[in-house]
Amino acid sequence: MRKKVIIVGAGVAAVHAVKAIREHDPDMEITVYGEEPFYPYYRLKLSKNLMTDLAEEKWLILKKEWYEAHRVNIFLGRKVAGIDPERQTVRLVDGSSDTYDVLLLANGASNRPLQLKTGCTADVYTLRTLADARRIRERVSEKSRILNIGGGVQGIETAWALCSHQKKVTVVEIGPRLFPNQLDDTASAILKKRMEAFGVQVLTGTQVTEVYGERGCEGAVTGSGKRIDCDMVIYATGIRPNLDILEETSVKRERGVLVDERMQTNIPNIYAAGDVAEYTGQTGGLWGIAMTQGKVAGSNMSGYLAVYRPQVPVTVLNAFQLTVFSMGSVAEEGDTWSVVEEESGQNRYTRIFIRQNRIVGAIVIGDLTRSNLLKRMIENGMELDMADLAEISVGRLLERLQRVPVLQR
Ligand SMILES: Cc1cc2nc3c(=O)[nH]c(=O)nc-3n(C[C@H](O)[C@H](O)[C@H](O)COP(=O)(O)OP(=O)(O)OC[C@H]3O[C@@H](n4cnc5c(N)ncnc54)[C@H](O)[C@@H]3O)c2cc1C
Repeated sequence: MRKKVIIVGAGVAAVHAVKAIREHDPDMEITVYGEEPFYPYYRLKLSKNLMTDLAEEKWLILKKEWYEAHRVNIFLGRKVAGIDPERQTVRLVDGSSDTYDVLLLANGASNRPLQLKTGCTADVYTLRTLADARRIRERVSEKSRILNIGGGVQGIETAWALCSHQKKVTVVEIGPRLFPNQLDDTASAILKKRMEAFGVQVLTGTQVTEVYGERGCEGAVTGSGKRIDCDMVIYATGIRPNLDILEETSVKRERGVLVDERMQTNIPNIYAAGDVAEYTGQTGGLWGIAMTQGKVAGSNMSGYLAVYRPQVPVTVLNAFQLTVFSMGSVAEEGDTWSVVEEESGQNRYTRIFIRQNRIVGAIVIGDLTRSNLLKRMIENGMELDMADLAEISVGRLLERLQRVPVLQR
């Protein structure tokens, strides 16, 4: 009898799981339930392309016909309400149910809700879905002063999209600098200065506690009582995996659904991949990780062993006519030391983080040729055999790296 797999969620992890299953098994029955009414699309472009054409067709990962051609039953606008691992069934919000032999949880994450004291919630938005983007677009045309809460990639990309459309933008970040986990003080200051040059007000170390207004948003208040003029708020303050459908099940979860290197949960016929999954204490939150995990899960679900090797996280920002790259561990801790180069006033900065003779992280502003080389070195865990490393400049180090053959881990 044909085995049946059900996939909860129709995002990028689901797409890559489906592709991997079909590569190995042309017969397995595949059913995908997606809460959103759209075929899987490029979610990561929402903030970059917020002000472009938001027609579904322009955003799809695969053409709609692909699913039919590969015999994938994809049900959109169908939310799974819960699962029953003993009976091997999923229950849908509309009251119907469906049974599986193997289940993949690929139901992603949601934006963490904004914690405000009290006040107005009208004109307060977040951006996670294409529907959110359309709502924001519809409303933003009537607005002129936008407050972006959250100084991470999403918040800054959204700020750039709005700023390029003549909106007056303020960005507020609770951490001490923009991209608090991916940049150091210098890199963050370069980015901040650049944003200010485009007319954006940037407030770091600041928390918004209240949004006020009678019928709509008229302004916001920070923890120190400062008032910010705005008529619309968009927040991006982190994500949290969607675990609600696992209530009353014994599927183990902490921050996300716990999986092993095959993406298998503690229940042998249930797998998880993408933003919902937690592997060795880490939840992903990145497109590339969701793709790889989906592929690994799909292979294993169709009986072909595949192992997930954790990827070094990469953040790339292209905004305010600046390219910012951060990869790996950029924390100034313990035995880490770094090689730095800054061309003051040129918006060019490179800092390479080295621990135990290996390059473990890098920040590069303005020179993508450097970031590509460093990415390769970090991913390969290459050991540096250089006695004079403490004396070396960024330029000399990169020159040497270019000549070193890349070793596979
Ligand atoms: C605005 C924005 C910008 C981003 N920019 C970047 C970037 O520059 N680089 C990067 O690497 N990453 C970026 N990301 C993150 C990246 O998009 C995610 O890591 C990736 O989409 C995760 O894929 P996923 O398939 O695990 O989950 P998702 O893409 O979240 O897909 C999960 C799907 O499951 C559905 N679902 C949830 N619950 C249920 C249910 N109960 N029943 C049925 N369906 C359900 C959801 O509606 C959703 O459609 C960005 C994300 C956003 C929102």
